[in-house]
Amino acid sequence: METTNNPQIIDGKKTSATIKEEIAAEVVKIKAAGGKTPHLAAVLVGDDGASQTYVGAKVKACEQIGFTSTLVKLDADISEEGLLEEIEKLNSNADVDGMIVQLPLPKHISVQKVTEKIRPEKDVDGFTPANVGRMALNWPTYVSATPNGIMELIKRYNIETSGKHCVVIGRSHIVGSPMSILMGRNDNPGNCTVTLTHSRTKNLPEIARTADILIVAIGKAEFVTKDMVKPGAVVIDVGIHRVPDASKKSGFRLIGDVKFDEVAPLASAITPVPGGVGPMTIASLLYNTLMASQRKIYS
Ligand code: NAD
Repeated sequence: METTNNPQIIDGKKTSATIKEEIAAEVVKIKAAGGKTPHLAAVLVGDDGASQTYVGAKVKACEQIGFTSTLVKLDADISEEGLLEEIEKLNSNADVDGMIVQLPLPKHISVQKVTEKIRPEKDVDGFTPANVGRMALNWPTYVSATPNGIMELIKRYNIETSGKHCVVIGRSHIVGSPMSILMGRNDNPGNCTVTLTHSRTKNLPEIARTADILIVAIGKAEFVTKDMVKPGAVVIDVGIHRVPDASKKSGFRLIGDVKFDEVAPLASAITPVPGGVGPMTIASLLYNTLMASQRKIYS
């Protein structure tokens, strides 16, 4: 039986820093040539702590790389109509290249209506039906941040995907489902034979064991154990979970959907948590915003 004791660690922290440097250099060039500074607008409804942290990190990253950013903070009791009006203002603001509406939204607001209101040209989160459809068709589009980040890691680490069996665990709209489409497209990375598994899948461990590339986005801490992984597989762990840890200043540490310590020795390459997929999401959002400002997707 083939075993690998030293898997390649797919370093999302380093890769995301490199991408940010590349984008920052591009912004310097654009500005020097008298071009338009990329501008991202983020809409935050209510005062959910986690959402504030995520949006704050996105706005800070914009500043670091020379983008303009606008944070639109709205009260949790804003009406659906009121939020749609705010989105329309950003749609028609010619200086705003891309916008994101931080989820989750308060229960009285329809995520579907809000998503459909965003002009696809400015939908740098890639959540609108138009952009999801374009992704499925393999047309130029904004691929949403987490799947885009995973594809970029696969590309930059030269992981062979063509003809491989990719098993995706989890079918959420933001991770599992788009990953299954992207890995099956006639593209590079892509051209995998894809199996999309979910909560109703029978014999999941058996199917997972046939994966050359295993992508795990299930939202259950350390769900994937060594008996679910084929020796030599590439393992991409999307999960993020906080567990109490008194030895840390913060009082917690992060773990993934994969039991890293026992799976890593079997894998040929693996993303750690933290420092794997997580840091790539903001880099992807910045990349999409740069594309929007350059009118690279919709000309
Ligand atoms: P989700 O809860 O929306 O979806 C989980 C999926 O797993 C569902 O499709 C469900 O059918 C499937 N599932 C649940 N139990 C299962 C089982 N026993 N067997 C097989 N499939 C099962 O999750 P999500 O939004 O895709 O997020 C998944 C994880 O990734 C979470 O831990 C989340 O925090 C993390 N996440 C990380 C990033 C990042 O930037 N790294 C981004 C998004 C989500």
